[in-house]
Amino acid sequence: MNAGLLALITSAEVLYAAACGMFGSRPGAPLWLSWPLPIWNALMGRRPQPPRPNYARIARLERELGMTEPERPMRAGRTVCLTKGCGGGTVEIRTWQGPLAASIHECETP
Ligand SMILES: [Zn+2]
Repeated sequence: MNAGLLALITSAEVLYAAACGMFGSRPGAPLWLSWPLPIWNALMGRRPQPPRPNYARIARLERELGMTEPERPMRAGRTVCLTKGCGGGTVEIRTWQGPLAASIHECETP
């Protein structure tokens, strides 16, 4: 085998390896570019990252299922009455825009 052909094959292999490294890791990369990546990652001890949870979708599903927390007032205060058998009501004060500003509880001991 002559030296020119060997150099041509070697440079073609190097170019192919560089193309695999540059484009093979992209999502949706064709298999002829992406096949060495899992082997390299295994050799380097890298594990593929698990897919991240879709927080926007989780929040939307929680809203649809009614799993969201009750509305929190802007002013912090007691949210739970500790009086036993309390019959008092809770007045909600809202801003003009609608958010809950304060929640005032009036205790009525029986
Ligand atoms: Zn109370």
